[in-house]
Parts: sequence; C-alpha cells; structure tokens
Amino acid sequence: MSLRSTALCTGGAALAALVGFTASGCGPGEPSSTEDLVYPGANLMIISIDTLRADRLGAYGNTRGLTPHLDALAGESILFENAYANSPKTASSHMSLFTSMLPTEHGLRNFAPRKGLPLKAMASNRTTLGQVLNRNDYYNATIASGGNINGQMGFSRGFGQDTFMSGLREVPDIVSDAKTLLNRLTPQEESAGLHWFMFLHTYQVHAPYVPPQEWIDKFAIEPQGRSGELMQPMLKMSIQQQWKHMHDGLWDHKAEFNAEDGEYLMSLYDAEVAYTDHVIGRFIEWLDQRDILDDTILVVLSDHGEEFFEHGEFEHDQLHEEHLRVPLMIRLPGGTLGGKKVSGLTSLIDVMPTLLEMLDIEVGSGLQNQMAGESLTPSMLSGRTNGRPVFAERVMFVEAYQAALRNEASNVIFHEAEKRLQAFDLSTDPAETEDISGNLDFLRKAAEALKSALTRVLLRRHAYDQESTGVNVDLSSKELDELKKLGYIGDGDEDIEVKLPEGTPIENFPDLGDG
Ligand SMILES: [Zn+2]
Repeated sequence: MSLRSTALCTGGAALAALVGFTASGCGPGEPSSTEDLVYPGANLMIISIDTLRADRLGAYGNTRGLTPHLDALAGESILFENAYANSPKTASSHMSLFTSMLPTEHGLRNFAPRKGLPLKAMASNRTTLGQVLNRNDYYNATIASGGNINGQMGFSRGFGQDTFMSGLREVPDIVSDAKTLLNRLTPQEESAGLHWFMFLHTYQVHAPYVPPQEWIDKFAIEPQGRSGELMQPMLKMSIQQQWKHMHDGLWDHKAEFNAEDGEYLMSLYDAEVAYTDHVIGRFIEWLDQRDILDDTILVVLSDHGEEFFEHGEFEHDQLHEEHLRVPLMIRLPGGTLGGKKVSGLTSLIDVMPTLLEMLDIEVGSGLQNQMAGESLTPSMLSGRTNGRPVFAERVMFVEAYQAALRNEASNVIFHEAEKRLQAFDLSTDPAETEDISGNLDFLRKAAEALKSALTRVLLRRHAYDQESTGVNVDLSSKELDELKKLGYIGDGDEDIEVKLPEGTPIENFPDLGDG
C-alpha cells in the first residue's frame, strides 16, 4: 500500500521555525495540531466487522497470526488500543456509532421475533451521521448484511438508492457489491466533484462460525464437546440455512456446553476471523490500486465482541471485556500518523464527532448537544485519550436491563432485574474473573459514578422523548443547561422540576448507604 503523506505540520512548524527549535514529533509531513487533521471533502468509508473481538487481531496482541491484513492496515492507521462498544447488541451499538448517543438515549433496540420483540424505528428527532453527511452534499451508500442493521430502524436515514441492507450474505459478496458501486462512483467523483460516505457491514465472524473448509483446516481444532457434534451438519449448510438453524441447531443446547465447547467454538471463530481478514485485506489492496484509499478516511471497527464461556455464557449478552472491547482503527488520507497507537479508554460514541471534525463539517448546537461522545483528534496527536469512563448498556431484553461503567481501574455492572451490582478491580483482574462487590469501599465509589452516568442518560432520553411524569431527580446546573439547550426547559424555568417517568431502571439501583 502506498503512503503518500498529505497533512502538513503547518502552524506548529512555522512557530517552531520562528523561535528556533523543532516542535516535538513534528517532522516533515507530520501533523502538529488538530487543524492538520482536517480533510474537507474526503471520502469516508466505515467497515464494521460485526462481532469482532479486539483480542483476535495481531495488532491488539494476538499471536495466532489470524489477521495479517488488518495488522498491516493498523500500521498505516491510528489504532485505539482500548476502544469499547456502548452495547453488546448489534442495533443499539451501531446506532450509538451513528448518533453518538448512548443506547437508552437513542432508544433503538434489537428486534427479535423469537422473543416477541418487534422491529421499531428510532424516533425521528435523533440525527444520524448519514443524515448530517447527506445535508453536507455527501453521496451515501451502504451495503450491510441485514438482521438488526435494518433500514426501517433508522439505519437508512440519509441514504438514497444505493442502500442494500437485507439478505444475509458472505463477506466476498459485500466486498464485490462495494467494488461495483465504487466503479460507478469514482468517475463521478472526478467529473462532478462527488464525495461519498460508504458503510460496509458483514456478519461473517458472527455465529455460527462457518468459514470455508480451507480456513477451518488452518485454524480450527478437532471437534470437541456437545458443540463439536452439533456443528458438523451446520458446517455443510448455506449461510441462510446456518442462520435459520443457529438456534435449534446450536444455541438451544447452550445449557449442555462448557469450557470445552468454548475452546472449540472459539477456534472456529478464529478461522472465520482469519478468512474475513483475507477478504477485507484484498479489498483494501484493491482500494489502494484504484487510488481510492488515499482520498478516503477509512475506519475499521466492530459493534461488540463475543463470549466463549469466559463468564459462563456464549455469544454477546453481557457487559464484560470480551463482549465490549472492539478494534478501532482510522486510516487517514495518505496514511498520516500511520502506526500511531492511542492508549486510554474510548468508545464508539466518540467516532461520529471525530469524523465530523476531520471532514470539516459544521456542527450546529442541536447536534452538538445530541452527541455524547468527544472528538478523538487531540488524542491522535498526544497518543492518549482523556480516559473518560465508558458507559455501556444491555437494552435488548426489557426484563433484564444491565448498565456498566468502566474506567481504567474498575468495571461495575448494574443488573436491574436482580437489583444487584457486580464490581471488578481491573488493576489486578483485567479478565474480570472475581466479583469484589463485597468490598463496599471499592463498590461505593464505582457504583456512585455508574448511578450518576445512568441518571444522566435517562434524563437525556427523557428530554428527547419530551415526557414529564414520574420520579423527581436532582439536576446539576450543567444538566439543567443541557436540557435547556435541547429545548426541554425554557429560560426562567429553573425552578420547574424535571422528572423521569416511572419505571426507569434507576428505581432499582441498590442503595449502598454512606459508608
Ligand atoms: Zn453485532
């Protein structure tokens, strides 16, 4: 891949020359301020590899050699070492990416006919990245693989005729459609100054983990456990058949699975990751050969991870490291800052403000207030995010709402149905194996922060929903100010009580006393 550096060390370099020293980290072509990271009119491509755990990539420390192509891309990208999804479920997580709102705030949930959860659209007063770009003359196109990325839920807002969001397809088909589209758009780009935003999404590494045989032979272990028997017929099915039988053929038997199944299924998953890396890698090479790559901001990420019995379950239904830690890499035009690693916590809500800033899109106050995330451009220069704690929610099942707040020292999880908290000391137990919620001093501090984060989220949701009955809550002046900006409170209305509707999860938050 070529590395044509375009961003220049402008203001900083001039100043450095004047005062007679070289600005730190400001060599030829290296950006020295966030203004050097602005690419007006650049194309934007987001590739979401659904269900991809960060720890399967070599770039994130995996040693199985599964992802040589994504690792090479990481060498040309800015890689966020500690990026987390805000939800372990596809629809909520992707919509947090596309609105910079937390799951409860945007309100979108997965639909699941098996569980009686109908398909519902996100309310129209939340604005998506696609809508913002469309208003700024971007041509938007999306090729997604259906399921819970469904246009009717709000994912097609801002997108026009080139919106393909149905039909479960293998990753080569997604890539092939993307190439066809790009072959059509590129000449228009040259002749009519078109710039585009393309969203590509694949379920290739999502269960039931069936890559072509060649990849199974390379990376999967011999079948073992109950899942070893159950997977054999699945390995011979088409993708549509696999998805149809994923529950009766595999997950309905989960209660019979154990760590042996975790090991076997993860090896199939690894094979699927390696296969996907191969296909995506060839696509990125094609983008480079067609001179598309260097005019484009390319983002590769995932919407959540996957569990293989680490916390007694499978798939992605909890709020631990393996469910939420995802890859996040951003390749800038010209490969600027390629190979830079950014430490510190970040989450998918930070992606939208980052991209809007880099694309030089003006953000009005309404959108500014909507976005719960913060731009990551300062951290691209400094190599460290501001470490803001990550709030995540499991909102799919009304009867089992969960919320978690992760900082560098702790992960605390609220289980609403059981009115229970779990706490993990990440400094000594990064894999979250031991619940230390019995340590009340530790728990109180972490839980207090989670409770205020949850309250804030519920208030923002409520402000957007414009309802006003129920439980009273105390608001900080900052929160009042925010609600005012959202139009929920008028000037001079400070003494009006802002209330949350009855039945919000905060009512079941355990009272831990004063300590
Ligand atoms: Zn997903």
